[in-house]
Amino acid sequence: MSRRRQIYEGKAKILFEGPEPGTVVQYFKDDTSTNSASGEDTNRSGTIIGKGVLNNRISEYLMSRIGDMGVPTHFIRRLNMREQLCREVDIIPLVVVVRNIAAGSFARRLGIVEGTRLPRTIVEFHYKSNELNDPLVTEEHIACFGWSSPSEIDEIISMSLRTNDFLSGLFMGIGIRLVDFKLEFGRFFMNDEIRTLLADEISPDNCRLWDVETNDKMDKDRFRHNLGGEAEAYQEVARRLGITPESGPRDLPGPTLIQ
Ligand code: UDP
Repeated sequence: MSRRRQIYEGKAKILFEGPEPGTVVQYFKDDTSTNSASGEDTNRSGTIIGKGVLNNRISEYLMSRIGDMGVPTHFIRRLNMREQLCREVDIIPLVVVVRNIAAGSFARRLGIVEGTRLPRTIVEFHYKSNELNDPLVTEEHIACFGWSSPSEIDEIISMSLRTNDFLSGLFMGIGIRLVDFKLEFGRFFMNDEIRTLLADEISPDNCRLWDVETNDKMDKDRFRHNLGGEAEAYQEVARRLGITPESGPRDLPGPTLIQ
């Protein structure tokens, strides 16, 4: 790991100061844990060997394609197996969840059978707070507490829906249903201008991905529900995207789960 100054350490990533002003380096760890917003009864953590390498590669690929499609992102380039260079942004304190199909605690809470396709896509906001378990909030709460402005929220919704349409098609093309996913956004200051950028990562850690044929889970739910085969599932997502890591099996010694 590099000796750069560490800015922040989260559950799955470490953020370092970047080589130039206005940049940061995201380091992808193999550590994993259940999310606070998911309404799971127990919070567990563990390690999925090789996950960081896969998520770095998958997120690089998806962020790049999303950027090509016209939604601006913080991603600049991948530096090595576990690190990527990104623009430094002020993270907007909202967890944005986009849902196409009912799953998990959403399905339980509203009494909908898991797997039911929603009549329209739902964009949900949670206030980003570990202590409060990322509570669900409305645009009223967001405006009231000044977490984001109404015009910024409009932009976030539009960027989220464009990302959803694009990713749903991309995954459908490789036999994967995009059930739901989480996005985070940040403010990037360019001279006098503020731009909203898609930030964080997009990987099987923050998407629900189901195989179209078998409905097999190919995402972090394998860990959340003790299904096993996490690393294999993440690897299969990378394989179908055509982006398996260059250095091969030495860095990906298989699906070892350490609790
Ligand atoms: N999600 C995430 N981080 C969070 C909250 C949600 O990555 O802090 C993702 C999660 O992987 C899933 C989607 O967002 O793909 C919805 O998950 P949530 O935890 O809200 O659970 P649900 O209510 O669907 O069980």
